[in-house]
Amino acid sequence: MSAVSAPHRLLAWAPQGSVLPDSLWEVRHRWVMSILVVQAVAVVPFALARGYSLSHGLVEAAGPAALAALASLRRLPKVARASFAAVGLMLESAIAVHLSGGVIEAHFHFFVMVPVVALYESWVPFGLAVGFVLFQHGIVGALESSAVYNHEDARDNPWWWASVHTVAFGAACLGALVNWRMHERARQVTDELTEATERDPLTGLPNRAGLERLGQERIARGAPLSVLLIDLDGFKDVNDTLGHAGGDLLLAMVGARFGTVLDKDDVLGRLGGDEFVVVHSAQRADGAQADGAQAVADRLRQTLAESFAVQGMTLDVDASVGIATWSPPPGQRPLTETPAATMTELLRQADVAMYVAKHSRRGAAAYELEQDHEARRRLTVISELRRAIDCDELVVHFQPKIRLTSGGASGFEALVRWQHPERGLLPPADLIQTAERTSLIGPLTAVVLGKALAAVRQWHDAGMFLGVSVNVSPHSLANPQLLHTVDGLLREYDLDGRWLCLEITEDVLLADERGCLSALRQFKQRGVTIAVDDFGTGYSSMSYLQRLPADELKIDRSLIGGLGADVPLRPTAGQVVTDFALVIVRSTIELGHSLGLRVVAEGVETAETLATLISLGCDEVQGYLIAHPMPADQVLPWLAESDAASTAQPLHAS
Ligand code: C2E
Ligand code: MG
Ligand code: MG
Repeated sequence: MSAVSAPHRLLAWAPQGSVLPDSLWEVRHRWVMSILVVQAVAVVPFALARGYSLSHGLVEAAGPAALAALASLRRLPKVARASFAAVGLMLESAIAVHLSGGVIEAHFHFFVMVPVVALYESWVPFGLAVGFVLFQHGIVGALESSAVYNHEDARDNPWWWASVHTVAFGAACLGALVNWRMHERARQVTDELTEATERDPLTGLPNRAGLERLGQERIARGAPLSVLLIDLDGFKDVNDTLGHAGGDLLLAMVGARFGTVLDKDDVLGRLGGDEFVVVHSAQRADGAQADGAQAVADRLRQTLAESFAVQGMTLDVDASVGIATWSPPPGQRPLTETPAATMTELLRQADVAMYVAKHSRRGAAAYELEQDHEARRRLTVISELRRAIDCDELVVHFQPKIRLTSGGASGFEALVRWQHPERGLLPPADLIQTAERTSLIGPLTAVVLGKALAAVRQWHDAGMFLGVSVNVSPHSLANPQLLHTVDGLLREYDLDGRWLCLEITEDVLLADERGCLSALRQFKQRGVTIAVDDFGTGYSSMSYLQRLPADELKIDRSLIGGLGADVPLRPTAGQVVTDFALVIVRSTIELGHSLGLRVVAEGVETAETLATLISLGCDEVQGYLIAHPMPADQVLPWLAESDAASTAQPLHAS
C-alpha cells in the first residue's frame, strides 16, 4: 500500500454517512430516544443508591433530559436531533462513571453507547460522541480525576490514562464503524437492485413500480400533483410495419422528446408499451406555481407535431392524454395521516380519462367520476360477452345478396347479434368493438363461422346451393387458429371451401400485412373467396386493392345511400355531374371490374338506387330493399317465397 493511496483507501473503506431514508431514520431515532429517556430517568434512583442527595440526582439527570427534549423537536433538522441524542447518551455514560466513583466497569457504558450512536450512520453525531469521550476523559480527568478514574496512577497521569481508554474506546468505535459500513453497503446494493427494478430498460425512465413509489412519496408529503397518462395513437401499426426494433426506437425518441418540454420537478416514466406517464407537481420546488396539467398535456402533444425519422421512414405520431389530479384534503398534515389517495388509484383514473380522450378524439381529457361508470360498464360488457359466447347467446342473422343479371340470390351475409337475456336482441356495433379490444374476437368469429356453415349445410340439404359470407376482423385473420377452425368446420359440415366467403376490411393491411396476406392466400388455396368490405370508407386505394387477393368488392352503404335519383345517370358532353356519390360509385364499379372483381352494392334501400346501380353495371346488391337480415330459420321460407331461389346456384359460379 503506497503512502499516497493509504488515506484514499481508508477513506474509500470508511462509511460515507449517506442520509438514511426518512422512515428508517425515524425508527432508529425512536429506539435511541427510548434508551436516552429511560437512562435519564434511571439517573435519579442510581444517584440515591450511590448515597447522593435527591437534588444532586435531579441536577445530574437534568442534562440528559434537556438533550432528550431537544432531540425530540420535529422542526429541527435530523442531524441536529441526532447530535443532541448522541451527546445525551455520552453524557449519561459520563454520569454513570461519575456516580459510580470512576470504577472501571462503569466505563463499559461508553462502549455500549457507541454502537447506539452509530445507528444514525451519520458522521456529525458520531464525531460529537467521540469528541465528548476525549474531552471528558482528558479535560475532566485532569481537572477532577476522581470523576473519571478510581485508581491512583490514573489520577496522577490523567492524559496517559485518557490515551489508554481512547485505544479501548477506539476499538469499540472501529467495531461500530465496521457494522455501520456493512449496513450502508447492504443498503446500497438494495438501492441498486430497487433502482434496476424501478427502471424501464428501453428508455431508462422510471417504470410503473418507480412511478408508483415516486408519486406515493409526493402524496405522503402532501404535495398536490397531477398524473398524466399518455398513450400514443396508432403505435401498434408502427410496430407491425417496422417490427419491434423500429417500434422501440420510436418509443425511445418519443420519451426523449417529451423530456424536453417538462419542468425539472416533473417526473417522466413509461408504463410499458406505448404508455408514458408524467407526474406533474402543481407547485415547483422553488415555491412558484407550475403550469396547469392541461398546459403540460398540450405541450406534450405539440412536441409530437414534428415527424420522427425511423429506419428511413417518416412517421407522424399523435397521442391521447388522460389527466388525474390530487391535492391534500384541507387540514391533512403530511406523513401523520393516511393519504387520501394512492398513486395506483391516480394512475387508474388517468387511464380511464385517457380512454375517454382517445375515443372522443379530444386529445386530452381530465378524469371525472362519471367516466368511471362508463369504464365499469365496458368491463361489464366484456364479462357479459364472455358469458354470451360460453352460454350460446350469440345468434347469426342472414341477409341475402342478389345478382342483378338474374335476380337470383348469390348467397347470404352472416351478421352476428346478441340475444341478451335482459336487453333483448343487440346489434353488433358495441359487441364487435368490445370483442376486438379483447381476445374475445377469436372465439366470437369461430361461433359465427360455426353457425354460418351449419346453416349452409341445411340449405344444401334442402336443395338450395348457396354460400355464406362471414365478416372477419384483422385480429382474427392474423391468428393462425382461424385457418384450423375453418378447416375443421368445412370438414364437419362436409362443405367445399367455395361456399364460404370471408369479408375483410382494409384494416388488415394496417394491422399485420404479411401475416394477413399469407393467411388470405392459404384460404384461397382452399377455395374460400375474399370480399373487400365497406369499400369507400377509410383509406381505400387502388394500391391496397391490388395487394389483396380479393374476388369481391363491397361498396359501403354510406356511398350507396348517397346515390341521388334526380341526377342524370349518363351526363351528356358538357353537363356537370353534381352528385359526388354517383361519381365515386361509378368509378368504383369501373375500378373493381378493371381488377376483375365482382362488385356488390351494400345498403340498397330504394328502387331508385337499385335502378341507378343496374344502369352503372353493378353486379350484385344487398340491402333492406331486398330483405333485412333474418334469423336462420327464416332463410328457406324467404327463398321459397321470393324469386331469389329460382336462380339459386353455386356461389360465385358466374
Ligand atoms: P357490414 O359487414 O358492412 O354489414 C352490413 C351491415 O349493413 C349490417 O349491419 C346490415 O344489417 C346493414 N344493412 C344491410 N342492408 C342495409 C340497408 O339497406 N340499410 C342500412 N342502413 N343498413 C343495412 P349490422 O348487422 O348492424 O352489422 C354491422 C357491422 O358489424 C357489419 O357491417 C360488420 O362490419 C360488423 N359485423 C357483423 N357481424 C359480424 C361478425 O360476425 N364478425 C365481425 N368481425 N363483424 C361483424
Ligand atoms: Mg360485411
Ligand atoms: Mg359492409
